[in-house]
Amino acid sequence: MPWTPAGERWFGVSPALPDAPAVAAFPGTYPAAMASLGFLAVLREMLAQGLPVHRMPLLDGDPPESIEEGRPLRSYRLVTVSVAWELEAVDAVAALRRAGLEPDPARRGPDDPLLVAGGALTLVNPRPLLAFADAVVVGDGMDAARLLARAALDGGGRRHVLEALGALPNVLLAAEADDGSTAQRQAAALPSYSTGPGPLSSPVVTEDSAFGDAYLVEACRGCPCGCTYCVLRRGRCGPYVAHDAATVLAAVPEGVGRVGLVGGGVSDHPELERLLESLVARGVGVTTSSLRVGALTERRVRLLAAAGARQLTVGVDGLSSELRRTLGKPLTGERIVELAETARGVGLESLKLYVMYGLPGEAPGAVEEFAALIDEVRRRVRVHVSAGPLVPKPRTPLGDAPFAPAATLRAVRAALRERLGAIVSGLDLGSIRTARREHALAHADLATARRLVGIER
Ligand code: SF4
Repeated sequence: MPWTPAGERWFGVSPALPDAPAVAAFPGTYPAAMASLGFLAVLREMLAQGLPVHRMPLLDGDPPESIEEGRPLRSYRLVTVSVAWELEAVDAVAALRRAGLEPDPARRGPDDPLLVAGGALTLVNPRPLLAFADAVVVGDGMDAARLLARAALDGGGRRHVLEALGALPNVLLAAEADDGSTAQRQAAALPSYSTGPGPLSSPVVTEDSAFGDAYLVEACRGCPCGCTYCVLRRGRCGPYVAHDAATVLAAVPEGVGRVGLVGGGVSDHPELERLLESLVARGVGVTTSSLRVGALTERRVRLLAAAGARQLTVGVDGLSSELRRTLGKPLTGERIVELAETARGVGLESLKLYVMYGLPGEAPGAVEEFAALIDEVRRRVRVHVSAGPLVPKPRTPLGDAPFAPAATLRAVRAALRERLGAIVSGLDLGSIRTARREHALAHADLATARRLVGIER
């Protein structure tokens, strides 16, 4: 019998039996993997097609091994890897080495597993994945997951599966990729990302997930807003698609205690109230990722509190109202204080604010303005601030903006620590070095990506 961790509950599909030919790998730990809807949706699709697939969190275990059978990576014929963030590509390559698998696809042999990568990083730059995968799926991965499962079930070898995958318009093959064709395929694939099949949902719930025991379901894809730094901004990855509330609700199985509504533009879902009301009426708690302050009406905040929220997490983004305006996210300090007031009124305990520093045009007084704002907010609710350097991403209006000089970032960081350290309940200032590596990978060409992820040392 396959082993699955205690406390896992499966919905719609079952964990794979022993001797599975495929494994879905994740460049993180088990709790992070179980909180990644992209990873889980691909797993669900391949299992639903009848392909036995195990799971492997690449950062658990040295060498990593599958959850279901404790098998090494090299014992599988097919390996999928879901990567959301630039630095995870580096972790994936290191894990392949620990697993005894040659990370350079050009040096792997016919008896090595076929490695197919995808995930949200492909919306930014697929090249860090092309550095180690045989094939990379750009954007929506459901068609590729289905095709991959069928081709693997057909029993065809690597060549057969790669040929089938390569026929999809959003798949890049490492053996054929160059910078020009990669840019073209990515540009062609991005506009159809948001119109892929949905809502996606998780096949498994566990208390050990980074989202707690929440059942993840996609409420929408893309975003109707135009924040100038965001890869999900309107139009960049297709139109904003808000899944019909009835469909989202139908995707939530009976017996689920908590739901995580996933989607960049979830705050702007036209039926958000209906979703929240219906789930609350079913006795289901709700959690969301970061929300947009401007969309948080009193009714919505009240409903979120009724759905079990104790904290609201919101993107503030710029340190001053002028910076927020230039980011395409006009948001006054008064509106943020008003949200804190509303949050207190409905019994929420705290606000978590995300903010970026090192923005073009950031004046020295911006930290003072932000500190004064936080001082007002913390008089109403507890405040946790998570601040990090702006990492301009390709194909966004801010894409060509420079990554701020280290001295500038260090000065802002020190000022934030000094002004906020004593007045917030939590302060996370991120890592400047990590942000710089993220920026380099986001903009890397193929040769640079190979070096940065550790293929060439
Ligand atoms: S509101 Fe959020 S998801 Fe939408 S464009 Fe702005 S940052 Fe991106």
